[in-house]
Amino acid sequence: MPLKTAKEYIDSLRKLKLNLYLLGEKVTNPVDNPIIRPSTNAVAMTYKLAHEAESADLAATSSMLTGKPVNRFNSLFQSTEDMVKKVKLQRRLAQRTACCFQRCVGMDGINAVFSTTYEIDRKYGTPYHQRFRRWLEYVQENDLCVQGAMTDVKGQRNLAPSQQADPDMFVHIVERKSAGIVIRGAKASQTGTVNSHEMLIMPTLNLRKGDEDYAVSCAVPTDAAGVTLIYGRQSCDTRKLEAGDIDIGNYTFGAHETLTILDNVFVPWERVFMCGEAEFAIMLVERFASYHRQSYGGCKPGIGDVMIGATASLADYNGVRKAAHIRDKIAEMIHLSETLYGCGLACAYEGWQTPAGNFQDNMMLANVCKHNVTRFTYEICRLAEDIAGGILATMPSEKDFRHPVVGKYVDKYLKGVPEVPTEARYRMLSLLHAMTFGQNAISYRTESMHGAGSPMAQKIMIERETDMELKQKLARRLAGIDEREDVTG
Ligand code: SF4
Ligand code: FE
Repeated sequence: MPLKTAKEYIDSLRKLKLNLYLLGEKVTNPVDNPIIRPSTNAVAMTYKLAHEAESADLAATSSMLTGKPVNRFNSLFQSTEDMVKKVKLQRRLAQRTACCFQRCVGMDGINAVFSTTYEIDRKYGTPYHQRFRRWLEYVQENDLCVQGAMTDVKGQRNLAPSQQADPDMFVHIVERKSAGIVIRGAKASQTGTVNSHEMLIMPTLNLRKGDEDYAVSCAVPTDAAGVTLIYGRQSCDTRKLEAGDIDIGNYTFGAHETLTILDNVFVPWERVFMCGEAEFAIMLVERFASYHRQSYGGCKPGIGDVMIGATASLADYNGVRKAAHIRDKIAEMIHLSETLYGCGLACAYEGWQTPAGNFQDNMMLANVCKHNVTRFTYEICRLAEDIAGGILATMPSEKDFRHPVVGKYVDKYLKGVPEVPTEARYRMLSLLHAMTFGQNAISYRTESMHGAGSPMAQKIMIERETDMELKQKLARRLAGIDEREDVTG
């Protein structure tokens, strides 16, 4: 069953025995929980598109391991074109969901672990790569959803993992047994865990001598013994518990993050892909980060498409769409959003083949892509809020809009142009509210800042990836400090 349908995927989640907490209570049926379900629907869209005639070329591909059809989210990139398709797929999915669809971290992690394990084995003769291939075949065969688990909680930020007062601030190996390892720690801000079958654990930063126990990559089922998931609070989340479908803005789709606790989790050797090779942590982190920084050049422009559409619609409803300053602001939103998409595509086109055989994107351009994301999405939100007007944050509730006494006032006084019903304006404002500071805001704002690494992480990589000696040499030659080039020579 290589390509699950959306329904088969959702049904498969019902079999998981997650140890999950939400708002202080244990959740026994996450699939039908109204706060969680929108995020499940968003992941389900990644399964749905694989069966849609017009999207299947983007959402499905063939396995580099078996040649069988696989969902792109479980695939290895076999060419630069595959990475281009990844970005196009992400844009399309975001257009359909207007939020994070959560499955990219796993895809990017799969590709990074695949190439890094190959290089660890080349140096040490370890069996990680073959193990990883076997695990990935299992994932592909069952079309599982894999959650990439990288971000450690990190404790005191200026201390290395092994120097922390509490050794559990970074996930680490606490015991090596004949059948496997035992790991402990926690991963923060984990996108989509509740909707995933498997977690792919990776180290979060560069590791040095003394940090060997923190150099661990492995696969853990989300419902393994010792795993506890604590659901992250989101802006306006309890609106999902209310009657009606307007106030939540994006009724069908959302995303989520968890604080994932790994309390003495046993991992059999066949699921261990790095165990103590501290010097390879940076390779894994940088390759993953590069892939995921590219990914934002797909999903954010897709959400941007919806945000721009909502903003233009509100300008229509307010009767100001043709005003010069409104057109200029909307053009600016489009320009910023398409720049992100251009960056996402560029790092794919400039990709290269790793020794393991899969393709890696261009790290400089991927970091430029994500760094732009940390700024442009905020500017796009600012312009959207500017055009939408203050009512975006002050609208009465749907209950008031429907109320037998005050409803008529809300209907009368929140009307824009006469030909558009107030309810349409209400719904569009609510959608924009969800994306700018409501339940979907994390997908476009905070995640744009911190997801796949905070802005400074990209600046460090941009500096590291720059050949400054070359740039200075170019300048010296043209300035006449070095010998000038003879154009006729
Ligand atoms: Fe995918 Fe974007 Fe969500 Fe990351 S933030 S998992 S790239 S949709
Ligand atoms: Fe993310």
